[in-house]
Amino acid sequence: MNVVFLGPPGSGKGTHARRVSASKGVPHISTGEMLREHIKQQTPLGKEAKVYMDLGRLVPDELVIDMLKDKLKESQYDNGVILDGFPRTVRQAEELDEITTVDHVINLDISDADIVARMAGRRTCPVCGYTSQLEWLNGDMHCRKCGAIMVQRDDDKEVTVLERLRVYHIQTQPLIDYYTKRGVLRTVNTLGEVDEVAQRVSEALAE
Ligand code: AMP
Repeated sequence: MNVVFLGPPGSGKGTHARRVSASKGVPHISTGEMLREHIKQQTPLGKEAKVYMDLGRLVPDELVIDMLKDKLKESQYDNGVILDGFPRTVRQAEELDEITTVDHVINLDISDADIVARMAGRRTCPVCGYTSQLEWLNGDMHCRKCGAIMVQRDDDKEVTVLERLRVYHIQTQPLIDYYTKRGVLRTVNTLGEVDEVAQRVSEALAE
């Protein structure tokens, strides 16, 4: 089963991709996390990607496509993958179609205003990538998964979020049309509690 999570930054792609991955036993790939790992390890790809990520722009297609294709060669993905943050451009979607079949696309729907509010409160674990809202942490900044101190990602700061939204509307939103035409897209409303949204996601996957 190959699933793509589509949606603007802060729509909950990571959260719901992880949940589906755990419940279906299908491995999850986040290209954003892969890129942040390259930055941490200071690889040539990481150094190049950082410039774009800090500006809220997309990393050039060639770099991300090569990185993902290499990753998908690993045997753990032979029976499927939950993709979170890829594809983000029509070119990436076309490349993905060349190497595999996308069975379901979950489009997480949220307004720009809700995104700006949500991103201001998002904190991320720099070690394991777990994310949470400030209000859920209740003043205790330790990651609930691994114990590290959660931080605000540089690209979650408001000016960068606004740029990421602009980029999303221009470069990624056309994928809604792309996958609608293929009959695989289901739009899920992200209003409400995480568990309610997760329930909607699982219903959309069962359709
Ligand atoms: P994310 O963690 O998915 O929000 O991604 C963080 C950042 O990584 C994005 O704002 C982009 O700069 C970069 N990135 C992640 N995935 C892609 C992709 N598929 N194509 C281009 N850039 C990406």
